[in-house]
Order: sequence, then structure tokens, then C-alpha cells
Amino acid sequence: SFRRDILGVEQKVPTLGGKYLPYINFDNAASTPALQPVVEEMQDFLQWYSGVHRGTGYKSLLSSQFYDDSHETIANFVGADLDSQCVIMVKNTTEAINKLSYRLRFAPGDVVISSMMEHHSNDLPWRNKARLKYARVDQQGLLDLGDLKKLLQLYYPRVRLVTVCGASNVTGHLNPIHQIAEMAHAYRAEILVDGAQLVAHHPVNMMKESDPRHIDYLAFSGHKIYAPFGSGVLIGPRKTFLQGEPEYSGGGNVDLVSRNKVWWTGLPDREEAGSPNVIGAFALARSLQYLQKMGIEKLALYEEELLLYARERLQKLPGIKIYGSFPRVAVISFNIKGLEHALLGSILCFEAGVGVRTGCFCAQGYVRNLLGINEESISAIYEGKEPALLPGMLRISLAAYNTREEIDRLLKWLERIIAHQADFKKNYLFSPSFG
Ligand code: PMP
Repeated sequence: SFRRDILGVEQKVPTLGGKYLPYINFDNAASTPALQPVVEEMQDFLQWYSGVHRGTGYKSLLSSQFYDDSHETIANFVGADLDSQCVIMVKNTTEAINKLSYRLRFAPGDVVISSMMEHHSNDLPWRNKARLKYARVDQQGLLDLGDLKKLLQLYYPRVRLVTVCGASNVTGHLNPIHQIAEMAHAYRAEILVDGAQLVAHHPVNMMKESDPRHIDYLAFSGHKIYAPFGSGVLIGPRKTFLQGEPEYSGGGNVDLVSRNKVWWTGLPDREEAGSPNVIGAFALARSLQYLQKMGIEKLALYEEELLLYARERLQKLPGIKIYGSFPRVAVISFNIKGLEHALLGSILCFEAGVGVRTGCFCAQGYVRNLLGINEESISAIYEGKEPALLPGMLRISLAAYNTREEIDRLLKWLERIIAHQADFKKNYLFSPSFG
């Protein structure tokens, strides 16, 4: 395990029994903890940061240098080509995808193809901006490439963009992004990869534009790749962001302003109006450098071993249903017969010191599809006057600092909860979960 390289001191959390237990974080798909060395470097930098690209003081120059270097480090980490592409700093994946949805400036009739396995952040921003079509998933929840191809053929030449997740936050399913890129390019469409669940768990190479398998756009969040909150990335062709006006305007993204005209500055500043989050960019870049040093391939291999171990052990639990198939990253969503997902999540938190996530994980359509629930019945629940527990799942999502011992502890607790479920149910009241 990469535990010592990633985490600092072990954290203990209180339980209802009055004991403090070492915290087990199996909710890495939501956010990973910040790398300990990065936290230390950030603390140093907090005494040195200043506005970037503005002041002439030493601190400003230093911050500007760090900020510019961060863009380069991020590009290197995912194999982006800075001659034709640019790295735009945003606050998270959601902002990155929304930004692109505005910057593509769709004409009436333009089509975007997304899929039925997307997080809301890669679905909602496209609605009402283009004609949005969804490629289907199969019964296991794997993307149906045949259906995607049919949509590309049917809507050619109006398809501007194919947008898919690199890895799902529900099933962990890995999409063959380069194969999808090649399909999209064959129909003269571009591709966006929502890399929120991919970049921390799998090597990514956007490739040169001359390669038909290249990735045009990539979005991801710092807080899912061992940096703290507040920094995210949108990478894409410079030409997209040089066309027309930037999304935001104000300080920092102009060269010259007269009463009637504005001369926008170059990229990436052009798309980063206002004082940027220099500490966030610095932290993200440093965490990528540490990951590179540890070897992202090694981390991925370790996580795969952990995934297989966890899956094999979970499968033996009575009444368990695990969703999805392979290939996948180390995200496992499941239900246990007779135990509501939210109840199980609460018991794990308050008895076992284990953090998981329950519900629909901001991917309601995909989760409902996997559960075999149709849209009509769900709106009936929501429109009802009584708050109700939405159907959902329990998700564990692993990272390179988790260990087999932690999985063993989870399993011990799940076995105990299943065996004594009547007692646990008596003691726990739980509130409805939405989203
Ligand atoms: N896409 C996927 C696949 C995700 O898992 C997430 C976060 N759960 C997002 C997008 C949104 O990321 P953020 O909240 O950092 O914007």
C-alpha cells in the first residue's frame, strides 16, 4: 500500500459505543484525502503567495511562476500537447464541463452525444444547449458502443461532441476512451472525457492531435486526485477557446480596453478572468508530481488487486447484489437484501468508523437503470407528500492508501450487521436521502 506516502497520521473517529476507531475512508470517489507532503508544501506557500500576473513584487513573481508551471505539470501528467492545447484552471469538473458547454457555441440543430452512465455533471450542462442524445448501456451497465455508433451515423454531420466518463462513479466501469475518440473523429465530432474518476486511478494520455485516437477535451477535479478542494481543470484545443469571447470577462483577461472595444489576452488567461486560485493550482500540480514519482501505473495495479480482493470477499455475503462488470476501477456499488442502503451507511459510520456513500451518487438515471426502476415510478415517489427514501445503492470506492485489513474490517462489520439486522434496525432511525 502507498499508505505512508499518501496519508499523514492515522485519524481516529468516534463511534456510538464511545470508542474511537481508526477512520476507514471508502469514499474516495467523492474526494480523496490530500497528500500529506502537499499539505506541508501548501503551508509553506501560504506565506509566499500573492496575485499572479499583476504585481512586480518578489511574491507576485514567485506566485506567477508557480502558477504558470502548474499548467505545464498538469499538461504533462495527462499527455496534453501544449502547442495545440491549453490547460484552463477552474474549480472542479462540474465547472469545467459547464464552461465547455458555453464555449462550444452550438448552432441550432447541433447534436451532443452523451451516455446513460454519466454523472449529472456530464448530463445537465448539455441539456438545452444542444440536441442531446444518450448512448445506451447494456444490462451490466457497460456503454453500448454499437448504439453510440448508430447515433453518430444517424446524426452525422450534426454531431459536434461525444462526451463520456473515463470511469463511472457508480460501477467504476472504464470506457475505451481512445476507441470512442476514433469513432467520434471518423464522424468529424470531437470527444470530451469526464476524467473525474479516471485520472487518479489510471494512466491517461490525451495523445497528439495527429493521432485519430486523441482526446480533444479532458476535465477533472483536484480533490479527487489527492489535492484539496478548489482546483479543477479543463484541457482542450486552443482554437476552441480563441474563438469568440471568453466565458467570463474582467480583470486579468484583457490586453487593451477602450470605451467600445476589448482586446482579449492570450490563453489560458483569456479563460481565467479574475484573480486565480494560485494555491489550488500549486497543490494540484504538486500532487500530480508526487503521483508521478510513486508511479501512477503502480498505484493502478495496487488498486486493481485491492478491488479483486474486496469483490471476492463481498460476493460471499448472503443477499448481496453487486452492480456492474469489468473492466473497472476500484468502485463497487451494491445492495444487501432487506437492508436499506442509507441504514447500512449510518451503521457503518456510527459503529464501525467506516465512511461510504449511499444513494444515487449524482447519477440518478444510471442507478435507476441498474436497479430496473422506471422514470414514472420515481416521479410518483418524489411528487408524494411524505419524504421517502429514494432507491439507491451503497458504494465503496478505494484508493491506493487503502489496505486489505481495512476491507477485512468492513466485511466483519457487514457480516455482523446482516446477522443481527433486527437489533440494528431497532436502534437506527435514518433520514431520507436525495441525490
Ligand atoms: N463526473 C464524475 C464521473 C464524478 O464522479 C464527479 C464527482 N462525483 C463529477 C463529475 C463532478 O466532480 P466535481 O464535484 O468535483 O465537480
